[in-house]
Amino acid sequence: METVAPEKEIIEVIKANGGDAFKYCYQCGLCDTVCPWNKVRAFSMRKVIRQATFGLTDIETEDIWRCTTCGRCPQRCPRGVKQIESGVALRRIATEYGVFPSAVKSVRTIGASLVAEGNPLNEERGKRANWAEGMSVPSFSEGMEILYFPGCYLSYDPRMKRVARATASILSKAGVDFGILGTKESCCGESIRKTGDEELFKRLARENIKSFIDAGVKRILVSSPHCYHTFKNEYPEFRVNFEVVHITQYLFELIAEGRLEISGQYAKRVTYHDPCYLGRHNSVFDEPREVLKKAGLELVEMADCGKDSLCCGGGGGRIWMETPKGERFSDLRIEQAVSVGAEVLATSCPYCITNFEDSRLNREDGEAIEIRDITEIIAEVI
Ligand code: SF4
Ligand code: SF4
Repeated sequence: METVAPEKEIIEVIKANGGDAFKYCYQCGLCDTVCPWNKVRAFSMRKVIRQATFGLTDIETEDIWRCTTCGRCPQRCPRGVKQIESGVALRRIATEYGVFPSAVKSVRTIGASLVAEGNPLNEERGKRANWAEGMSVPSFSEGMEILYFPGCYLSYDPRMKRVARATASILSKAGVDFGILGTKESCCGESIRKTGDEELFKRLARENIKSFIDAGVKRILVSSPHCYHTFKNEYPEFRVNFEVVHITQYLFELIAEGRLEISGQYAKRVTYHDPCYLGRHNSVFDEPREVLKKAGLELVEMADCGKDSLCCGGGGGRIWMETPKGERFSDLRIEQAVSVGAEVLATSCPYCITNFEDSRLNREDGEAIEIRDITEIIAEVI
């Protein structure tokens, strides 16, 4: 096996990033039993990290890029081992040396797009607010109730733009005094950080923090659990604190305060998928379900729900990497939703929706189930 980076350096970087906790690992294997990879192929992050701590990891292997940072194994580990941090540390070395296996090569172009345009989709910064064309969505100004931060996928991806528009229509209907940053909004940086590009994360975070401070932002509404996670838990590393609220929490709040009235009924059988970065990483499990119930629908739970939710496969930068057919967790998730008779698979994350739509279209009975963001459902019943 070829090791590109000096072995000593790999070990030191892992330790510096919390990987030192791996010395407490007593090889019980619990982490392997919950890792979603083992539903589609044999994989052990435990072995990858163990080999790395002995200086034996081939930094060119695709295995160091597999972890979706879903959060299941740290949740189960009885010894407090930080598997995600150790895995990201390995990627940091690979990124520094510019070593990307073929399935991961896109990370390089994603990085270039983030630097040039502030988004991973190679779209122009100047078109960032085009999703709101034809709607009266104002620019944020100091004193407004809340900043709406749609994030990259909702700003540019044609499927996800529908979610941004549904969100803005709900906010308008509820009389919320909100605005957007438009071209001054940059990618939150959460996923590029998980690919190991710490410098680019810091650059994006600083750009956003400057925009927030310049505009006098106090409270931020996000659609993506990835934006939510990094604004809430990672931006405080820069000694700033903004109040962050996810759209599912905000809808719950608006309904509870009587600002948003549900007048119709969404008469369908719906199952809800907990996105890893909303549920497991940030403990938001109840509000999405409560909001869905308010729409008068029939809510059914599928297998692997709540804190044991099956990852869609898009976290940790995997949304940008190639996953061959037969190894896509999202295919399994659609099957779980179909098997409980759901007509609609609802969720609240742009990566989950992107992966689920792709999996749905690859099914022969793809028309049998719809994929909906919670805002799309609520927009239909108000
Ligand atoms: S669950 Fe924790 S202690 Fe057990 S093998 Fe995995 S990392 Fe080691
Ligand atoms: S965080 Fe999730 S994907 Fe990563 S190794 Fe743990 S269980 Fe597997």
